[in-house]
Amino acid sequence: MNYTTQMDAARRGILTKELKKVAEKEKFDIAELMKLVAEGKVAIPANKRHQCLEANGIGSMLKTKINVNLGTSRDCMDLNMELEKVNDAVRMGAESIMDLSSFGDTRTFRKKLTRECPAMIGTVPIYDAVVYYHKPLKDITSREWIDIVKMHAEDGVDFQTIHIGINRRTAGRFKKAKRLTNIVSRGGSIIFAWMEMTGQENPFYEHFDEILDICQEYDVTLSLGDACRPGCIADASDISQIEELVTLGELTQRAWDKNVQIIIEGPGHMPLNQIEANMKIQQTICKGAPFYVLGPLVTDIAPGYDHITAAIGGALAAASGASFLCYVTPAEHLRLPDVNDVKEGIIASRIAAHAADIAKGIKGAAQWDHEMSTARKNLDWERMFELSLDPEKARSYRESAKPEKEDTCSMCGNFCAVKNMNRILNGEIVSIFDE
Ligand code: SF4
Repeated sequence: MNYTTQMDAARRGILTKELKKVAEKEKFDIAELMKLVAEGKVAIPANKRHQCLEANGIGSMLKTKINVNLGTSRDCMDLNMELEKVNDAVRMGAESIMDLSSFGDTRTFRKKLTRECPAMIGTVPIYDAVVYYHKPLKDITSREWIDIVKMHAEDGVDFQTIHIGINRRTAGRFKKAKRLTNIVSRGGSIIFAWMEMTGQENPFYEHFDEILDICQEYDVTLSLGDACRPGCIADASDISQIEELVTLGELTQRAWDKNVQIIIEGPGHMPLNQIEANMKIQQTICKGAPFYVLGPLVTDIAPGYDHITAAIGGALAAASGASFLCYVTPAEHLRLPDVNDVKEGIIASRIAAHAADIAKGIKGAAQWDHEMSTARKNLDWERMFELSLDPEKARSYRESAKPEKEDTCSMCGNFCAVKNMNRILNGEIVSIFDE
């Protein structure tokens, strides 16, 4: 291999099999895609050791991708069951799995994923360090944090989230700024606590160059985590969030100088009227690096329905420039998601992604809707199920209330506008009450 990362290859005009694959999937011109990867506007997370990867590109001009968070926890230790959830998620259309394992033999699970799962695999080394070293947080050394980044790279993960934007300077300002819900990022809260207890600089920030060298060696894409993402509507677009974004913008350029691919993590909770402006600010400050949003959740008051609050925000965010959506399940803020929550979260996220793709004019997106509408017009129920995001649910709804007339549905029966219009335009008689 005569290149280090996908970005390095693109900058030197080398066509990698991953870039070729992405161009085919997205029906995108190879030279154009190569330019976008070279500029950092598209990332192709593809660790050289993740042999079974089906590469995908992340960038606002490509199809919006979705990520599903899974992994073992103290309450869910069964590796096989977790792997089954991963397979279900991939089957339902997730392009990326973030392994957020926080209990047990995390390395075995991680290696199994990069050996068997074709989706992009992401991790958060901060969580794993706490499990791996199994000692009080304040006793973990700066070196040990970095060693975990290296271990994950060796294990074949395609992207890693590092909470690097919160350094001692921004932490000081965060304390003065006073937020309603402080830091809600799990990794962010851990690294903030570590900095407070040890008095040391954020190790990821301090040793960024070393991390970049590791990323170069294995081709790991860095997802620059937003420790200060707003955790409630009241904290949206505040000083801490924007200051952290500025730091992430500076670090983006440093990474690109070493050919390391970057994606930027974003909010969080955010009122609908602030989302578009936030996406534009991210694009300018981070020079068009792909934006990976965690929601945004457009209201705080709907626990049990946060897959919906996130899908509303996610659709607008992606239509305004975000390129990667982290799914949110109905269990958000309440419990660990079960299998059904995972499914609901994925479907909601895919709806948001697809809605944005139609608005952005992504190739093929509106064609899918066109085919569905044609099937609807023809009252072709089998075809409608086939084209549904969730065929199983669509079919079970129809079968739960069979109509008297097979071709209509129980909503309007003889009043079926579709059927009546088809008939009248076909020169047939429409006599609703006699039929
Ligand atoms: S019966 Fe009503 S809802 Fe059902 S297919 Fe016809 S027009 Fe649509």
